[in-house]
Amino acid sequence: MIVVSGIQPTGNLHLGNYLGAIRQWVAMQDAMQADDTCLFFLADLHALTQPLVPAELAANTIEMAATLIACGVDPDRAILFNQARVPEHSELAWLLGGTARVGWLNRMTQWKDKAGKNREGQSVGLFTYPVLQAADVLLYRATHVPVGDDQKQHLELARDIATKFNTDFAVELFPQPEPYISPAAPRIMSLRDGAAKMSKSDPSDASRINLIDDDDTIAQKLRRAKTDPEPLPDDPAALAGRPEAQNLVTIYAALARQTGEQVLATFAGKGFGQFKPALADLAVAELSPIRARLTQLLGDRAEVGALLAQGAARARTLAAPTLLAAQRASGLQI
Ligand code: ADP
Repeated sequence: MIVVSGIQPTGNLHLGNYLGAIRQWVAMQDAMQADDTCLFFLADLHALTQPLVPAELAANTIEMAATLIACGVDPDRAILFNQARVPEHSELAWLLGGTARVGWLNRMTQWKDKAGKNREGQSVGLFTYPVLQAADVLLYRATHVPVGDDQKQHLELARDIATKFNTDFAVELFPQPEPYISPAAPRIMSLRDGAAKMSKSDPSDASRINLIDDDDTIAQKLRRAKTDPEPLPDDPAALAGRPEAQNLVTIYAALARQTGEQVLATFAGKGFGQFKPALADLAVAELSPIRARLTQLLGDRAEVGALLAQGAARARTLAAPTLLAAQRASGLQI
């Protein structure tokens, strides 16, 4: 298995990112067999497609790398790097730009959503973003790509690009990357509104638990989380129509590595006055060591940068033969 996954270095990671994405990376890394490779990268090149503050991008890249390491990504086992330090990503993206069709990109729903009515005013990079994404995975001849629902269409596009490139140039260079949707990846909702995703862009800080929140803040946010007056049921199906209650049970289950049934077996008949303090204790126990490690890592940003540089060097070793083969296939190299 060759697993490749990226995340934009946006800063301020929250519990949703941790339970929905980062912990899946750590699980994949921990499940690696001797012949497997996990590549995790900070998608700083993708960040260029939206308005940006250069100093913030640089700081976010280091902070995000530190957060991933604090959450359990092990730079000795997984290959952790930032995309910009591996120029093969950009080079392959340009080659694949000759293969991808404008019509394919026009159909991308994320492009339509992000561009809205102002397509003409968007960066070219936002439009060709999925081509860079295809390069990100095809460069390592990835077999498995962990993706959320919103990225499935881009992975389909990567598969189409791989097929067309192989066919056009009569090579068998790129294998078809398979989506890897972890059964354990929960979707965490806002603490203020069970219908909205927990997100860093929510204006209310009380809606999310940030990985940098201290113990008291975590406990306070969970105590004040929106709920309803009913006690918890004994059957998960009975949580339908109670999105806030459902969300807190989901968070508890994910943190305790239990199923919803197991959580309800413990708390059925109890009200949130009892459930919330238990949830707060659990969240603090899980997040407090992560925060401590993160604080320590952020005390030595140069060291985090050095770890990223080592990761980039390892990634380049794997990327170079694929890029060379793609250049040969396209007639750019003899
Ligand atoms: P945000 O919504 O805070 O901007 P991103 O879009 O940057 O987060 O997502 C980064 C990663 O974290 C993605 O893999 C995404 O699927 C995951 N993620 C983000 N928010 C949540 C959430 N509320 N629940 C589960 N996973 C999430």
